[in-house]
Amino acid sequence: MKTYRIAAIPGDGIGNEVIPAGIEVLEALAAKQGFALAFEHFDWSSKRYLETGAYIPEGGLEKLKTFDAIFFGAVGAAEVPDHISLWGLRLPICQGFDQYANVRPARVLPGVQSPLRDGAALDWVIIRENSEGEYSGSGGRVHRGLPEEVATETSVFTRRGVERIHRFAFELARGRAKKHLTLVTKSNAQRHGMVLWDEIFFEVAKDYPGVRWDRELVDAMTTRMVLKPASIDTVVASNLHADILSDLAAALSGSLGIAPTANLNPERTFPSMFEPIHGSAFDITGKGIANPLATFWTASMMLEHLGEARAAARLMQAIEAVTAEGVLTPDLGGVHDTRAVTNAVKRALD
Ligand code: ATP
Repeated sequence: MKTYRIAAIPGDGIGNEVIPAGIEVLEALAAKQGFALAFEHFDWSSKRYLETGAYIPEGGLEKLKTFDAIFFGAVGAAEVPDHISLWGLRLPICQGFDQYANVRPARVLPGVQSPLRDGAALDWVIIRENSEGEYSGSGGRVHRGLPEEVATETSVFTRRGVERIHRFAFELARGRAKKHLTLVTKSNAQRHGMVLWDEIFFEVAKDYPGVRWDRELVDAMTTRMVLKPASIDTVVASNLHADILSDLAAALSGSLGIAPTANLNPERTFPSMFEPIHGSAFDITGKGIANPLATFWTASMMLEHLGEARAAARLMQAIEAVTAEGVLTPDLGGVHDTRAVTNAVKRALD
């Protein structure tokens, strides 16, 4: 029997609630589809950091490299500054494994209420550059604590990094029904990196005559997402811009609790990582009401990536059957808990 080795990193907060739920659903699905998933559990978390001084133990990434995929929960804890937790766990995996294409679908699932009047039209995929740009980590701080103190945060755009994400976005857009790609930019105010970002997009576009495209400044993009959702299909944006726009997309599609993401290394030199886009959600941790649907949706993306397209589609259909039935957690206006939604999705697999 075909067996996939999956590294499970629940991390912090509700990651420890939604990842076990995801594993339960995935195991039930694999048994029905005739393949196996061998999960190995990693305790990499803020708890581990506070106890040992490291999120990832010595040799940890080397070990992680041997898996077929990574199933990730969330990182972030009240006791650890966010920049320490993010750079301690999630970013070393994304950057170390060159997961440069961050794919974020957003759709209003059946039975889910979008805050938009025209919510039914919302069916987007946002592609986020995931290896450089504003989150390159380049910069520094000098004269700490003095009146002359200076901090710089340098955006880094390389020809190689920009070209590969635009090419990835065109490929993805070409495979969708509308075959339309929007370039998000801020090249009016940011005249170096963002101008390179645009120029390379125009060059790559020539290789994809079947894909229609347009260009939008990031500020205008927020209003277009709210006022003209049907005019958007596939979107490519820099690390920072797509980070912000995809949280908006999640809210417009009903809740942060349903939005999934895939951190892909398209060349498959390294394993890719699949996670819900939400964070640790301290306010609801331990209450048993975390919405597991984002985790189930990202599990479906993971199956797709592993080559199990039928299983991926079956899981997506089960998710949609459950939302259509109204088995929803409180973030979606429902009265059900994580357990009830998980059970309902498992039942709907049949
Ligand atoms: P991060 O900085 O790690 O991305 P965040 O501070 O942006 O995290 P989240 O932890 O994602 O925030 O939570 C934002 C809000 O959304 C919180 O009120 C949280 O309860 C809610 N939320 C997030 N994920 C879920 C979920 N799966 N189910 C229900 N509510 C959720």
